Amino acid sequence: MELVCLDLEGVLIPEIWIAFAEKTGIEALKATTRDIPDYDVLMRQRLNILSEHGYGIHQIQEVIATLDPLPGAKEFVEWLNPRFQLVILSDTFYEFGMPLMAKLGYPTLFCHKLEVNDKGDIVNYHLRQKDPKRQSVRAFQLLNYRVIAAGDSYNDTTMLSQAEAGILFKAPRNVIEEFPQYPAVHDYEDLKQEILKASETQDA
Ligand SMILES: [Mg+2]
Repeated sequence: MELVCLDLEGVLIPEIWIAFAEKTGIEALKATTRDIPDYDVLMRQRLNILSEHGYGIHQIQEVIATLDPLPGAKEFVEWLNPRFQLVILSDTFYEFGMPLMAKLGYPTLFCHKLEVNDKGDIVNYHLRQKDPKRQSVRAFQLLNYRVIAAGDSYNDTTMLSQAEAGILFKAPRNVIEEFPQYPAVHDYEDLKQEILKASETQDA
């Protein structure tokens, strides 16, 4: 049995924090796991910036409501659905991700949760577990699934190494150079081909 695990931001949807940074003009919010590999450090920085500027969940959700999946993402998910079981493994939060899941046909999403107070301030965040993408893949393997995983950034690399097959998709040059063991592709047609190549159950 095979399962495809996909990262979300940068793979199926735009980077949410970058979209919010562009909307508000706060340059420092453009940092992602591509820039700061330690997610805890990155999230603390983001929450500090939000509270400095007085932004809360509602302002972020307003921006998210204007976002669409990346061009071709919905069709790609529709291609995957009849062929593989699909689980999205993301370091986003349900409060951010769910509106975009609606636009992708609600694939299964494993991610994190925010803590928001009555005023809408994001006061904390709760990571589901440490190294969640790798742990999810491990858990699927314990259920006798063979996992094909694809992601674009540093926070995906433990998932890629744990999976039976890892693929970099739309990754920046520094990630591709640091992880030459993974095939690197940049559009959905090539990603389909890499997934089929990695598959033991589907013909390429
Ligand atoms: Mg990503």
